[in-house]
Amino acid sequence: MSSTSPKIPYKIYLEESEMPKAWYNIRHAMKNKPAPLLNPGTHQPMQAEELEPVFCKELIAQELDNDTEYFEIPQEIRDFYRMYRPSPLVRAYCLEEALDTPAHIYYKFEGNNTSGSHKLNSAIAQAYYAKKQGLKGVTTETGAGQWGTALSMACSYFGLDCKVYMVKVSYEQKPFRREVMRVYGADVTPSPSETTQIGRKILADHPGTTGSLGCAISEAVEAAVSTPGYRYVLGSVLNQVLLHQSVIGLETEAALAKYDIVPDIIIGCAGGGSNLGGLIAPFMRDKINGKLDARIIAVEPASCPSLTRGVYAYDFCDTGMVCPLAKMYTLGSGFIPSPNHAGGLRYHGMSSVLSQLYDDGLMEAVSVEQTSVFEAAERFARVEGILPAPESSHAIKVAIDEALKCKETGEEKNIVFGLTGTGYFDLVAYEKFHNGEMTDYVPSDADLQKSISQLPVID
Ligand SMILES: *Cc1c(COP(=O)(O)O)cnc(C)c1O
Repeated sequence: MSSTSPKIPYKIYLEESEMPKAWYNIRHAMKNKPAPLLNPGTHQPMQAEELEPVFCKELIAQELDNDTEYFEIPQEIRDFYRMYRPSPLVRAYCLEEALDTPAHIYYKFEGNNTSGSHKLNSAIAQAYYAKKQGLKGVTTETGAGQWGTALSMACSYFGLDCKVYMVKVSYEQKPFRREVMRVYGADVTPSPSETTQIGRKILADHPGTTGSLGCAISEAVEAAVSTPGYRYVLGSVLNQVLLHQSVIGLETEAALAKYDIVPDIIIGCAGGGSNLGGLIAPFMRDKINGKLDARIIAVEPASCPSLTRGVYAYDFCDTGMVCPLAKMYTLGSGFIPSPNHAGGLRYHGMSSVLSQLYDDGLMEAVSVEQTSVFEAAERFARVEGILPAPESSHAIKVAIDEALKCKETGEEKNIVFGLTGTGYFDLVAYEKFHNGEMTDYVPSDADLQKSISQLPVID
């Protein structure tokens, strides 16, 4: 950057009028499209009609569409977005100074809404389409509770019922998030539960289980298909969710463009892949088209390492094996992270879009251990002020690592990362960290092999 470039403000804001009017579909730019969902019985690609008992019609169309480049964002959704967007792109001057790095660090902060994360971007879209279809309500699962919170806010805005199956360990450890959901009128059940057939089966097979996202998904799907006027919605992994989350990337692109900033490294945490898929969408398009030469890095927990240690194969999206099969990097749908894992990002698989991009060598992945994540979180909080979510702190950790590498080499790289949310409801995890009770459990190859060996056989 030359001295003639304008001084970059601490926060780069967009005007309301500069907010995206359409979502960007990264699948349009992909040379190798993500593999289609398969019917779990016939192993044939799922047709829209087969998905209709489970999902809302318009969301199915978005899910299956690899070719449309832009989807207009309906005015009702843009009106809601205006209440908490555009989100700021922050130049982390204080962190740069603390690290004494020549790198320029930017983060896109998605925690400025009551639900505390980026998940609201897709929740409001999914609630809108459910309402438009005339449905009575939706069911879903939630892990740490951010998705459930976001969805309950979105449902109350449109007057829809919201039934949430919450992973039992989180339900017990995170009572505050549960109560926020109830403030917005959601009905919250710990999963696995006795309220569904699949829940009863999982409880019988694994007494005392602390649950997993995969179990909760099975229960939520069963509840949706067996309750008239309900459909199931999902907060991550699916193509449609990445599509909605492209607002993050489009806003980031617009903010960077204001000051002619070209990213060298883009980093995001990856659970099911929605924030990362959204953040990178326009940059990945430019990378695929040879217009941008940036590294793109997915960061995952060492205790749930789907990209770095999983296999690229068709797998069930849920433990109950009722959902369609998706081709993805996966640890096997039976994989349940160790109960001492406190940092979120617990899903066994990864979005098909990101899996394909990773397999094509367009994206890197690293896994990090949770104590190092909480160290990075604190380092960040103490200089930048924001209390980060543990999930987001995976990205912070790697952004700091990359900035420190720049210190070694003297390179003035532009590092952009996604700060997906705030950690106010994760203080039990922070407490464990402070008390020295947090350990780094990394599954052995034999541990992973147990669930990976159960993958469905597709010919
Ligand atoms: C849910 C969540 C994530 C991970 O989900 P992705 O779909 O991978 O983005 C990351 N950060 C926060 C704060 C979340 O709530």
